[in-house]
Amino acid sequence: MMHTRKSDCSEATDDARIELSRVGVSYNGQPALDDITVTIEHGAQVAVVGPNGAGKSTLFKALVGLLPLRQGQILIHGRPLGSHNNCVAYIPQREEIDWRFPVTVNDVVMMSRYGRLGWLRRPGARDMKAIAAALDQLGIANLADISIGELSGGQQQRVFLARALAQEPHILLMDEPFTGVDVSTQETILDVLTQLRQRSVTVLVATHDLNMAATRFEKTLLLNHRLIAYGHSEEVFTSETIRQAFGAQVFEVGANLVIDQCCGGHNQQAIQPLDIKTRT
Ligand code: ADP
Ligand code: MG
Repeated sequence: MMHTRKSDCSEATDDARIELSRVGVSYNGQPALDDITVTIEHGAQVAVVGPNGAGKSTLFKALVGLLPLRQGQILIHGRPLGSHNNCVAYIPQREEIDWRFPVTVNDVVMMSRYGRLGWLRRPGARDMKAIAAALDQLGIANLADISIGELSGGQQQRVFLARALAQEPHILLMDEPFTGVDVSTQETILDVLTQLRQRSVTVLVATHDLNMAATRFEKTLLLNHRLIAYGHSEEVFTSETIRQAFGAQVFEVGANLVIDQCCGGHNQQAIQPLDIKTRT
C-alpha cells in the first residue's frame, strides 16, 4: 500500500471484528481490566454491562488506543491497533467531555471528517453532505450554530452520535449513551442502531440498564474487571453470572433478583433470569 495516510472508512468491510486476547489494563498498578479474551463478531451489536467501576469505559478507551495495555493484544480488522486507520468511532461518557469548550454543533460534527481531510484541506461536497445527513438523521440540523454547552443532555448525545455517523465508521463504541438523556433521544439512538445493523457496523454500547441490554441487544458482554460472560443476551443473564458481576449488590425479592446499582435504591432493577422485568 503506497498511501500511508489513507483514511477512508466509507468502503464496506466484512471484517469489522474485534479480537481481544488476554488484555490487561491497569491504573497505577491497579488492574482495571484483567485477562480479557473475547472476539466480537463483525456486525454484532453488543451491550457492555457491569457494575460501576467494572472497567467498561476502560475497555472502550483501550479499544481506541487511548490507554496502554499492560498485557495482551487487541486486533481490529485482524490487525493491531495503530497499524492502520481502524475506522472506529468512539463516543465517550458525557461526563468526560468538557462542555465549556467553545465549539458549535457544526464544528463538532465537522471534526469527524478531519481524519479523511488531513488538516490542510477544505471540506468538499462529500464532507458537507455527510455532515448534513448526520445532523438531519439526529434531528439537530436547526442547532448547527449553537455552542455545545447550551444544549440539553439529550441534544449533546445527539451531537456526538451525529459526529460518529459522519465518520462513517466500521465500528462504533458508545459509552453510556442512554444515561441522562430524554426518552425521545433514547428512541432515536435505538433507531440509529437498527440502521447500523443493516449496514453491519459493529456496535458496542456500555449501559447500566440490564433490561435494555437483554431486550434490545442481541449480544451482551458482562464485565467485572474480568470477563464474566459474552454471548446471546438471553444466555448471558443467569442468576449465577449476575451474582458474579454484581456481587453484594444483588438480592432476592420473591422470584426476582434485584440489583441495587447505586444511591440507596434509586436505581434498582429487578432481574428474572430469561424473563427480565424492571421495577423502579
Ligand atoms: P466503568 O466505566 O465500568 O464504571 P471504569 O473503566 O471507569 O469503569 O473504571 C474501572 C476502574 O478503573 C475503576 O476502579 C476506576 O476507579 C479505575 N479508574 C478509571 N479511570 C481511572 C484513572 N484515570 N485513574 C485511576 N483509576 C481509574
Ligand atoms: Mg464508565
